[in-house]
Amino acid sequence: MALIVQKYGGTSMGSPDRIRNVARRVARWKAQGHQLVVVVSAMSGETNRLIALAKDLSPQPDPRELDVMISTGEQVTIALLAMALKDIGLKAKSYTGAQVKVLTDSTFNKARILDIDEANMRRDLDDDTVVIVAGFQGVDEHGNITTLGRGGSDTSGVALAAALKADECQIYTDVDGVYTTDPRIVPEARKLERITFEEMLELASLGSKVLQIRSVEFAGKYQVKLRVLSSFEEEGKETNGTLITFEEDTTMEQPIISGIAFNRDEAKLTVLGVPDRPGIAYQILGPIADSNIDVDMIIQNVGHDGTTDFSFTVNRGEFARAKKILEEQIKPHVGARAIEGDNKICKVSAVGVGMRSHPGVASQMFRALAEEGINIQMISTSEIKISVVVDEKYLELAVRVLHKTFELDQAAA
Ligand code: ADP
Ligand code: ASP
Ligand code: MG
Repeated sequence: MALIVQKYGGTSMGSPDRIRNVARRVARWKAQGHQLVVVVSAMSGETNRLIALAKDLSPQPDPRELDVMISTGEQVTIALLAMALKDIGLKAKSYTGAQVKVLTDSTFNKARILDIDEANMRRDLDDDTVVIVAGFQGVDEHGNITTLGRGGSDTSGVALAAALKADECQIYTDVDGVYTTDPRIVPEARKLERITFEEMLELASLGSKVLQIRSVEFAGKYQVKLRVLSSFEEEGKETNGTLITFEEDTTMEQPIISGIAFNRDEAKLTVLGVPDRPGIAYQILGPIADSNIDVDMIIQNVGHDGTTDFSFTVNRGEFARAKKILEEQIKPHVGARAIEGDNKICKVSAVGVGMRSHPGVASQMFRALAEEGINIQMISTSEIKISVVVDEKYLELAVRVLHKTFELDQAAA
């Protein structure tokens, strides 16, 4: 008998039929004698609908009130799944984040989980009951409802698995595993049987939304056995999905590149003609950081005539705010010539632990993009990834070209 945490995403919970399908899958696992905690998302489209409704009323909705509202999608699906399970004869009980007590900090809209109270869940599990928990939500020390950021149900699932020391955390979604890139963009993308934790962390942080980055961080920190699977496979035809592994498989040669990630959610800002003197990066990025805006890539050009240009990228949602700070505070303060902004850019990245032992990957990547006439605006590298910023209109082309260049469409040898 094992303790298993399963998480079902929005598409998997998208209609009464699909919820019944989830209930049948849960029942099959239960029939094998396992204890089950099931974490669910809102029905697909529901969180977007709620956010749009809030923005219709208030362009910058109050963050606390937004969480009170957008957490309701998951409150609906936990109850529906509990009803479906009871209807097929199982014992089941639903819990909101606050009822479990998923304690978070008070950063509304992107709260972090601090602690999870196991008591209620353990009691139910011991009583042979399927525990159903609302993903994406928690409660802070003052009793305020919080949410964990878009895609946060993944993190709820892994955090519960960590707290309960579950034998496995299964993330059920609308694809049957982690692919070499988003199969919606490249139909030739291949499913990976396994992927190293490090690579998954990079892919998630660089935009592959199959797992929320914080869920992968949690899995790493608490060594949660994590698997991504499809909730759409028929009984008897299920595959093993993709296992996130903590050791590199040394018996097989690692592919140089394991996957291509992309992120549309980017914007670039450039401060033109700033005096080329010590402290200038701090003077520009200090006020940006003070306003809680995360900066991703940074480039300072070689100076000439005593001035230089300074560019950086931010999340597209923060573009307007960052530009305003540059124009109103930084430009007059540092004596810059002008501020330029571009919110039609994207980031495309190649990820692979095999890169460590293979030089020349970057030049291969740059040549492939050049041959398609795609101009690279910014570059950033680490031991296991190379990212470039390109014009958003080239996103799909760049992803397809890189997928082919690194032969990700070919089955591994
Ligand atoms: P859920 O609602 O189940 O949480 P998401 O839409 O958040 O599902 O995540 C699944 C989606 O992630 C897939 O439908 C796919 O389009 C996208 N995706 C992006 N990159 C990848 C990848 N490398 N492998 C698999 N899916 C990916
Ligand atoms: N319902 C939330 C969202 O759409 C959380 C999730 O699906 O993981 O972002
Ligand atoms: Mg998701």
